[in-house]
Amino acid sequence: MSERAAPFYCPYCGDEDLRPGEQGHGAWECAACNRAFQLKFLGLLARGLQANDAGGDGI
Ligand SMILES: [Zn+2]
Repeated sequence: MSERAAPFYCPYCGDEDLRPGEQGHGAWECAACNRAFQLKFLGLLARGLQANDAGGDGI
């Protein structure tokens, strides 16, 4: 499984002009706002997967 997680939008300004950063794994740089950030996988949630969680309108 790849550790690569590519963001589609800058989490700060929402721009799509992202490029891989030089700070290491998961680092990205936003060309629009000149911010550098890093994505990091923290692990799986203890509660596990819940397919029907928080989405239903309760008909
Ligand atoms: Zn940005």
